[in-house]
Amino acid sequence: MTKPLYMRDNYLREFDAKIVSISDKGVVLDRSAFYPESGGQSGDKGKLVVDSKEYLIKTTKKTGGRIEHRLSSLEGLEAGMTVHGILDWDWRYECMRFHTCQHVLSRYLQLNYELVTVGNMIKPGESRADYTPLDAFPEKMKKEVETGVNELLSQNMDVETKFMPREQAISYLRERGYQTRYLEMVPDHVKEFRVLLIGDYDAASCAGTHVHNTSEIGLIRIKKSKNVGAQKQRIYFSLRKS
Ligand SMILES: [Zn+2]
Repeated sequence: MTKPLYMRDNYLREFDAKIVSISDKGVVLDRSAFYPESGGQSGDKGKLVVDSKEYLIKTTKKTGGRIEHRLSSLEGLEAGMTVHGILDWDWRYECMRFHTCQHVLSRYLQLNYELVTVGNMIKPGESRADYTPLDAFPEKMKKEVETGVNELLSQNMDVETKFMPREQAISYLRERGYQTRYLEMVPDHVKEFRVLLIGDYDAASCAGTHVHNTSEIGLIRIKKSKNVGAQKQRIYFSLRKS
């Protein structure tokens, strides 16, 4: 198991750790601040430094409780070595801004159009999320959503994470009318849930990385959309500085 340092500190950019194992799947550390691709959010990039030698991390994945760092080279690395990890912060911070923005967008679409989020892909530059039931996403609605979400982001809402036992998290979200569909998909061995609160606007169970305040996001720009199944629309969005 790798201790996921990003769960409690989304802003941790550097850390020390020990190599637990090395395989063609990557280097596993005893602890890591690198976010592994999951929940729709892209895996982190960056580097591991050992005795002033740098190893590039192309991406980070997850198998069970192990975080696997895919390196460009494994030469000279051995289990037991101490390494210093440094995140590609530009990449990660943009993922954080996009991810928090997606939560606000999803909540806005749930409250105003009764849409359910059924998928997402968070990455720098442009992200997307899938919504149902929605046959089309006309220009007028696009403008309304963009304006509505930007009003919310401009309220400088604080983003907070709470850790709760599984059952408590589910009833907490259900009682307040938030989406719980993803909660039931979380494997049984996960006993503690991480609930993300955005002001008093949104609450959701999420293991992803997020900003501290919506003011860090800037403004959303809704881009194209496309049909990806019966009554299902994929909405693309980008961010710009406010
Ligand atoms: Zn999330």
